Amino acid sequence: MPRLSRNLTLLGKLSLGVGTVLRKLAIAAAAIAAAYACPAAAGPSGKGVQLAWFQKDNIFRSGLRGTHTLALTFDDGPNFNTPSVLDALKQYNIKATFFIVGVMAHAYPAVLARVAAEGHLLGNHSATHPLLGGHYDDDPQALINQIRIVHDDIAPLSPAGTIFYFRAPYGAWRTAHAAILNADPVLKNYVGPIYWDEGGSIEIRGGYIMSAADWDCWHRGWDAEKCAKGYLREIRRDNGGVVLMHCIHTHSGDLVRAVLPILVAEGYNFVRLDQIPEYKQYETPQPAAPVVALAKADYPVNAAAGR
Ligand SMILES: [Zn+2]
Repeated sequence: MPRLSRNLTLLGKLSLGVGTVLRKLAIAAAAIAAAYACPAAAGPSGKGVQLAWFQKDNIFRSGLRGTHTLALTFDDGPNFNTPSVLDALKQYNIKATFFIVGVMAHAYPAVLARVAAEGHLLGNHSATHPLLGGHYDDDPQALINQIRIVHDDIAPLSPAGTIFYFRAPYGAWRTAHAAILNADPVLKNYVGPIYWDEGGSIEIRGGYIMSAADWDCWHRGWDAEKCAKGYLREIRRDNGGVVLMHCIHTHSGDLVRAVLPILVAEGYNFVRLDQIPEYKQYETPQPAAPVVALAKADYPVNAAAGR
């Protein structure tokens, strides 16, 4: 997606160096907001603190830092480079999460089906990867369509009971969007927007690559080995986390092959997003309707037996 690449490149140029600072500020702001949240004002029901449904802010905290556990996430696919990523994951029997873009899913349905068939979790990353800005406040149906279109692609490929996760394009999110999506009977069951712990930006200090972001590595002409150094340093420093990568570039598979043998040898555990305990609190409570229905169905049999 050339336009996406250009946008990301621009974004990357603007945020180089300050990216980490901004992210830390955002995390601090989220923590302060959470600490001072007014419980009575939260939630569509107006009762208590709303934890489930779409969140008003990105979910920055995964709880995986310090746990020696990694959740690999691959955004913006699928495309013809995704099978190389799948091959690498398969080699090490690692299950990951893929945040799917609708236009890519429609162009590469067989690759999407393979992602699901190999046990990876399909997440939702919008239909066309727009910056979800303020203009969607006045056109809620357009926002709902961005998420519903992808849901209709990934839901038929996901086993019953699957929890669906959303990641906002560019990580950009607005409080007003949570209320719009929570009014939709399907989308209110989503968990998100999910942020990341590692892979957000390139940082070089004293000649050492301290962290890396794959799209920016490729933009700078780095190879997978060089990019991997940044990922490995940041992952080791945090000792676990949600890792942001992409599965649509020429070197995407090479990057996975460069980091995985090392991380596996160092004993890291690998999970999908639906295996992260911290995220369980954000799952929307489900009605107990099936139990009630079963009891009613049983009644005539029991009554007959009692006669
Ligand atoms: Zn993206």
